[in-house]
Amino acid sequence: MSNILVFIETSPSGELRNTVAPLLGVAATLGHPICVVSASPERRESIAQQLSQSGAGHVVFASTDQTTASLVEPHVQALTTAVQNFAPAAVLIANSVDGRDVAGRLAVRVGMNLIIDAVELRLQDGAVVAAHSIFGGAYLVESTVHDGIPIVTVRQGVGEPLEATEGATVDVVEVTAANYVDVVIGEVAEKTVEQDRPELRSASTVVSGGRGLGSKENFALVETLADLLDGAVGASRAAVDAGYAPQNTQVGQTGVTVAPDLYIAVGISGAIQHRAGMQAAKTIVAINSDEHAPIFDIADFGVVGDAFEIVPQLVAEIGARSTRVP
Ligand SMILES: Cc1cc2nc3c(=O)[nH]c(=O)nc-3n(C[C@H](O)[C@H](O)[C@H](O)COP(=O)(O)OP(=O)(O)OC[C@H]3O[C@@H](n4cnc5c(N)ncnc54)[C@H](O)[C@@H]3O)c2cc1C
Repeated sequence: MSNILVFIETSPSGELRNTVAPLLGVAATLGHPICVVSASPERRESIAQQLSQSGAGHVVFASTDQTTASLVEPHVQALTTAVQNFAPAAVLIANSVDGRDVAGRLAVRVGMNLIIDAVELRLQDGAVVAAHSIFGGAYLVESTVHDGIPIVTVRQGVGEPLEATEGATVDVVEVTAANYVDVVIGEVAEKTVEQDRPELRSASTVVSGGRGLGSKENFALVETLADLLDGAVGASRAAVDAGYAPQNTQVGQTGVTVAPDLYIAVGISGAIQHRAGMQAAKTIVAINSDEHAPIFDIADFGVVGDAFEIVPQLVAEIGARSTRVP
């Protein structure tokens, strides 16, 4: 079985990013996943434990100090060393902002090919073949590399998490990050805006609202439902343009691309530009008063009706079964 290197993203406080578990799941469908993580030595045990919980069996830990671990270079250096040591069939990296940065630099460093934003990966005659959703999700195209190791960024949320393992084998590699950086970071801000909700791109549940909500005040219905489900809040561009929701919640071709386990679209028609950002969701639920709305073409469950009648009932029903207070 071929080795598949998986770049592990952690927060400044040493928690695994929620891109990690699905990415490990994708890697396991291709070969033997080897996690590559660079962090300070005192974080080693906790990170290895978290990785075991996410199903990792093999972790390559590159020691670097807390300050340089916040920079891209140590990660690139750790992956470069791991590519040399483990002769992988592919390197998988989440298609996050940091992940894309790492992937591009790594490709240049090791002189290999880059495949961007894969929504599916499979093996064909020993080669990794990636599928990409293009032209607003209207077409799926495939790409592969014929020469060398593909470095693949995988759309966040794509992949099934693995069962926890007993304990991962940990290799330690010394990386010489300090040779490459002359920047010192005093403090790393984890979030610029205080909020309890999960990050939209990697949330496992997303509740999105559209123009059908009619006002910013009514949009609170979507937020209530999202909070009850521990989900992130999304919005259509029409809802954002109308001022119901902030721009960073826009899902779609010119917004964020999501692939959650559950996507609930409330009062969203399902224009192709919106679908481009959410149609990779595993389960899509649509609530819309127009039975002909195109969102129903891709919905797994559709409710035809008035969101102002349906969502409060949904909130009450879920609230009655949940320990959370909406
Ligand atoms: C270049 C380009 C890029 C774009 N990028 C994006 C993008 O990234 N993301 C995006 O979302 N859009 C994008 N758009 C815009 C897109 O084409 C649509 O205009 C937009 O998605 C429509 O948003 P909507 O579904 O909220 O609104 P509408 O299309 O107006 O739909 C509102 C829906 O609400 C339903 N409704 C009304 N009242 C109720 C009620 N009481 N209860 C239940 N349902 C109700 C209606 O039946 C209707 O289906 C882009 C467009 C272009 C040209």
